[in-house]
Amino acid sequence: MASLYLHIPFCLSKCPYCDFYSCEPKTGDIDRYVDALCTDLKTSRAVCGGDDEGFSAPFTSVFFGGGTPSLLSASQVARLLDVAASVYGFAADVEITLEANPGTVSSASLMGYRSAGVNRLSLGVQSFDDAQLKWLGRQHDSTQALQAVETARSVGFDRLSIDLMFSLPNQTVEQLQQQCQYVEQLAPEHLSIYGLTIEDETPFAHQQQKNLWQMPDDEQYRDSFLLLNDRLTRLGYRHYEISNYAQPGHECRHNVGYWQRQPYLGVGAGAHSFIGRDLGERWACENSIEGYLHSIHEGVSPRTKIEGFDPQQAMFETVYLLLRCREGVDEADFQRRYNHSFATVYAAAIDQCAPYLTLNNGRWTLSLEGWLLYNYLIENFL
Ligand code: SF4
Repeated sequence: MASLYLHIPFCLSKCPYCDFYSCEPKTGDIDRYVDALCTDLKTSRAVCGGDDEGFSAPFTSVFFGGGTPSLLSASQVARLLDVAASVYGFAADVEITLEANPGTVSSASLMGYRSAGVNRLSLGVQSFDDAQLKWLGRQHDSTQALQAVETARSVGFDRLSIDLMFSLPNQTVEQLQQQCQYVEQLAPEHLSIYGLTIEDETPFAHQQQKNLWQMPDDEQYRDSFLLLNDRLTRLGYRHYEISNYAQPGHECRHNVGYWQRQPYLGVGAGAHSFIGRDLGERWACENSIEGYLHSIHEGVSPRTKIEGFDPQQAMFETVYLLLRCREGVDEADFQRRYNHSFATVYAAAIDQCAPYLTLNNGRWTLSLEGWLLYNYLIENFL
């Protein structure tokens, strides 16, 4: 299994909570960037290790992330997919996801993406409440969000994911219930639900320092997390990762690959790649658009190795990623991969994580309450 990630670092404006690198595109910027991505796709195979390093197999998933990938035209998406398919090949049932912001799509663009081969749409809705959307600095309102879902369905997207946020200041139980009612009405196959976090140096961080509003405390966060879990699992969604829910069979294959430490190639400014050589290597592209374009134009690889793994680090990363997942850590698979028993290597951590960490049918998993304490519990494995 190998995956492809294409990073599109353009946004129409900056949301006040976001610390991702992105720029407002000027005329011609996206065309130039797409040209560079195509060149990178054609040349990166050798740079990252070639046929025997995990990218030789056809890609089983492709993900356009950002930023705002829906700023790409359908023909730009089609061109990138054509190049990627011709260089690497795609599995017959490849999952191709494109992240889209509701304010940037139309019936024509969604139809174009679908025709280009995109078969999974991830809509950055964040909320169906207009006041919350305005406060979050989003470019769309709830009517546009609903319209985007309806249009996506009408042009044939039968794999739809919706991003929502919770743990917003003053968010009431009724408001959360209302979000769940929209989920019930729209029935997306997949949901990514993140609690708002305040990142340093963002406008929200400055507003918080001035006490303009207060974030929910841990107890309120916990109540919201459990309410969402309760409502969504009753609607038939499987809470398969701390922040992700899916109807059975609709888990995001691309993200599951990340959590399982499968190889992936990342192209685009700041994109990371993971190569399965030895115990794993992580590579990163130049993280500014200018730096990335410059390297490509000079015929120099935009990618450098940023991380290698010794056995301890590889085992820790495996545990760190898999304990986020409902499937947890498979004892036999861990033994096969590292030639060590999970229970022996982490005996002390297992003790410290009781009663939140349990072994069932050969798999170590965290309970729901354990997920709420994930950041604290995972330190025991360091
Ligand atoms: S649209 Fe997404 S990536 Fe762009 S600024 Fe807003 S949160 Fe960040």
